[in-house]
Amino acid sequence: MTAFPTGAEDYESFRTWVWSQARPVARESKDNGETEMEVQARWFGGEFGRTFTGTDGEAIQIVQFGHWNRGAGPDFTECAVEINGERKTGAIEIDLDSRDWEGHGHGENPGFNEVILHVFTDGPSLNRTYTRNSDHRQVTQLQLPQYSWAQGPPDFLPEAFPGRCVAPLAGMSDGEVKSLLESAAQYRVQAKTNRLEMMSNARDNDQALFQAIAEALGFRYNKTAMAVLSQRCPIRELKQLDAIDREARLFGAAGFLDQEIYDETAEPEARTYLRGLWDRWWKIRDEVEAAPARAIRWQLSGSRPFNHPQRRVAALAEISGRWEEFSTLWRSNVNNLEKDVNNLAKTLSHPFWDHHYTVRSKAAPKAMKLIGKDRVRDILGNVLFPYVMGVAEDQWRRFACLGGVDTNQKLKRASLRLFGNDEARQKLFTSYYHQQQGLLQIYNDFCLKDASECERCPFPEQVAQWQSSMNSVVG
Ligand code: SF4
Repeated sequence: MTAFPTGAEDYESFRTWVWSQARPVARESKDNGETEMEVQARWFGGEFGRTFTGTDGEAIQIVQFGHWNRGAGPDFTECAVEINGERKTGAIEIDLDSRDWEGHGHGENPGFNEVILHVFTDGPSLNRTYTRNSDHRQVTQLQLPQYSWAQGPPDFLPEAFPGRCVAPLAGMSDGEVKSLLESAAQYRVQAKTNRLEMMSNARDNDQALFQAIAEALGFRYNKTAMAVLSQRCPIRELKQLDAIDREARLFGAAGFLDQEIYDETAEPEARTYLRGLWDRWWKIRDEVEAAPARAIRWQLSGSRPFNHPQRRVAALAEISGRWEEFSTLWRSNVNNLEKDVNNLAKTLSHPFWDHHYTVRSKAAPKAMKLIGKDRVRDILGNVLFPYVMGVAEDQWRRFACLGGVDTNQKLKRASLRLFGNDEARQKLFTSYYHQQQGLLQIYNDFCLKDASECERCPFPEQVAQWQSSMNSVVG
């Protein structure tokens, strides 16, 4: 077994070397389907950090990220930013493109005059644009560095077919393939550890972990929605509330407590449950509810009823209610992390959600777990192990024993692409969570970047060099 993070360094060198050996037909990096709300959530979660260089070379330090604006106007209000050492307070606006400032009419809207920083991810390659408000004052600009999520673009799935790399991988020994997957997994885990560290430094430890757990619960289609929900209902505030207020706040902020939902609910038990939440929600609604344009967008189709976002919000409410118990597990004896988290997750229960798929559904005869096995594994593998490995690298050995998840479309596709229809090899190389992570990393680094249906991908020609490249070329 390779010591963490030595394998991560080996894989990074190997990947750089492989790409240097060919002229691939690469997919446009901008084509990642990222929405404005995703960038806003990443910004507010502290994922980009808090120290930047502005478009004109200004030294920018985010002192306070402020608050999500619930209504019209700039995206974040009550922010504090130091620009070249001068402290400014006001709002921050985030766009996908610098031209959106004018395109959305902010330059003529006095409601945007308090903006002190305009953040964007892209802009015209020629003819730079400037940001000016309706007072004709220039606003400091910040173009975020190119950055990709550790888990890659959320929903892009290339064609499912055995790739050109099946043959060279079949020619490698089991040990060589395992070593490649393990190193790729270390690289991926390290990226997640770094992301959590960045978020903890920008916000705080508890909020960074709370957001990351919410994202894991949002898998696969509602990661951003859950991230935004966790930011609009931060853990430090949820901890102060009693159980019903906590649930009302989360369900209300998620947009699951509107009148229409109540009116369309026929089942008496569901109506009683909703009425209980409503009795609390209406008292805080004016302070919490976002305007329709800023409402969280949920993808309600495409997942099994068991995984309906309302059940995931219920799980988040339960976890936040027992936050001290959960956080003790990763703060104290991390050697039993997997067992302790599994045991605690099994005790999560809710009188309504143990028997309902949605707030409107009829009661199911058989009780359901609030969080299924794969979600707990993803919380462990995607969040808690990367977090503890940031403080105790020797946890890699325990992480390497974590079993894999059963249901993941991307994983199935990656497995088919790299190992073809060889079921024995697919099983051998995807049984453990870290192997699955390694496979997904290779898939991200090559399959998601290739736009030639494998023809110009450099991986097949170079992969057999993995062992020798580690010892000579990149070693
Ligand atoms: S794109 Fe490259 S790594 Fe992916 S399946 Fe095709 S040859 Fe293999």
